[in-house]
Amino acid sequence: MKVVIIGAGFAGMKLARSLNNKAGFDVLLIDKFNFHQFQPLFYQVATSSLDASNISFPLRKAFHDSKNVRIRLTKVLGIVQDEHKITTELGDIEYDILVIASGADTNFFGNKKLIEYAFPMKSTVEAIQLRHRLIENFENVVGCATEEEKQKLMTIVIVGGGPTGVELGGAIAEMKRYTLPHDYPEIDFSTMKIYLLEGTGATLGPMSKKSQEQSQKYLEKLGVTVRLNTILKDYDGSVATLSTGETIETSTVIWAAGIMGNVPDGIDPSLIVRGNRIKVDRFSKVIGQDNIYALGDVAYMETPRYPKGHPQVANVAISQAKNLANNLRRIEMRSNAATLEEFEYQDKGSMATVGRNLAVVDIPKPRLHFGGFFAWLIWMFLHLILILGVKNKLIVFINWIYSYMTYDQSLRLIFKVFYRPRTPQEETRYIKT
Ligand SMILES: Cc1cc2nc3c(=O)[nH]c(=O)nc-3n(C[C@H](O)[C@H](O)[C@H](O)COP(=O)(O)OP(=O)(O)OC[C@H]3O[C@@H](n4cnc5c(N)ncnc54)[C@H](O)[C@@H]3O)c2cc1C
Repeated sequence: MKVVIIGAGFAGMKLARSLNNKAGFDVLLIDKFNFHQFQPLFYQVATSSLDASNISFPLRKAFHDSKNVRIRLTKVLGIVQDEHKITTELGDIEYDILVIASGADTNFFGNKKLIEYAFPMKSTVEAIQLRHRLIENFENVVGCATEEEKQKLMTIVIVGGGPTGVELGGAIAEMKRYTLPHDYPEIDFSTMKIYLLEGTGATLGPMSKKSQEQSQKYLEKLGVTVRLNTILKDYDGSVATLSTGETIETSTVIWAAGIMGNVPDGIDPSLIVRGNRIKVDRFSKVIGQDNIYALGDVAYMETPRYPKGHPQVANVAISQAKNLANNLRRIEMRSNAATLEEFEYQDKGSMATVGRNLAVVDIPKPRLHFGGFFAWLIWMFLHLILILGVKNKLIVFINWIYSYMTYDQSLRLIFKVFYRPRTPQEETRYIKT
């Protein structure tokens, strides 16, 4: 059975690993990057706590000893269902079973100005770009001529009070408190402002009321200004206009307020629902298809427990991949269709960290809530378990201990790409611009 998997995120990796060296399967894992990205720690790359390589794992290394899993580094463009093939930048690839595990990307809701000026954080590269911007802002403050310009550089607006916005807000506030004043003694950091805008009435919307209230309290304690029921209406690269009519002059807006599924061309548009997710049945099969499945963030599955679809989190992606791997093995063994197992999500809880010793954890069964130091320890422990690779786990752990003891983030590096023209034509264009 030739299984082609689009995307080596949490779902794609889990599925490929579950089918690794299993007789009867020939697996092709495709991704546009040659590494798996651990998205929950992007914010630590953006705030100089971790190096990008600590949360990335090379795909080819993961399947060094595999007899049946092969990797293709390419972007998938579309699906030709009738011919059982996909089109990619490297050409066409045929499949017996196709699994779409292409995750999600930032949703700017079509706002062209936001696309141009705001910083998203949905890939390792984007996290690094954000790190550059944050550090460059302070380098620019040092040489800044006017107070107005300085204040603009010292003001950061984060849009979206979900886990990403909350974690980022807390981490930037800690940089302001512990690290930046040592790096830039000539800057008065009491003027630095961090805003977190949230369109609803609470931060960490899907979590318990206690977690919501506690996360807001922690953020405010760290010096983040939280604006609830507030939407970013407009941003022109210089002034952010809020739904309340307020304007904030800022050179940095970070957009963490929406995602949309990465759906390849060729999927029936009637199967694409809210959030650009593909409708699947309880076996993760795309509705009306015999041999196309979708998993993780890009999939939309309704169950009695989750009538509006599952949350777009790593654990759902991993669990769906495990369930599909078991079902594919049953199909491969030509078992009776009745033996296939429907997917049922066991929610083990959710968590978010705001900063040093500050986190919130909700556990559904038994219903429990933790906050503070204990929750922070749980958060660290579970993230360490999830990161791929023993070396990465070790380095992340050592980094965290180092930062905890020294109050320092050691990776405040700007790797600027200086464009070097290679042809006379390029040189002319370069000099003109
Ligand atoms: C900043 C951030 C923080 C998060 N924090 C948490 C957290 O704390 N806990 C939690 O549970 N979840 C968290 N999440 C959500 C979690 O990361 C996702 O739910 C999870 O990654 C979904 O897994 P997936 O396999 O569906 O997609 P992904 O992990 O996104 O993987 C999709 C893969 O598909 C590839 N791809 C996409 N399109 C193409 C194409 N056309 N061709 C080839 N390859 C393609 C991508 O490169 C990517 O590798 C966070 C997400 C972000 C962005």
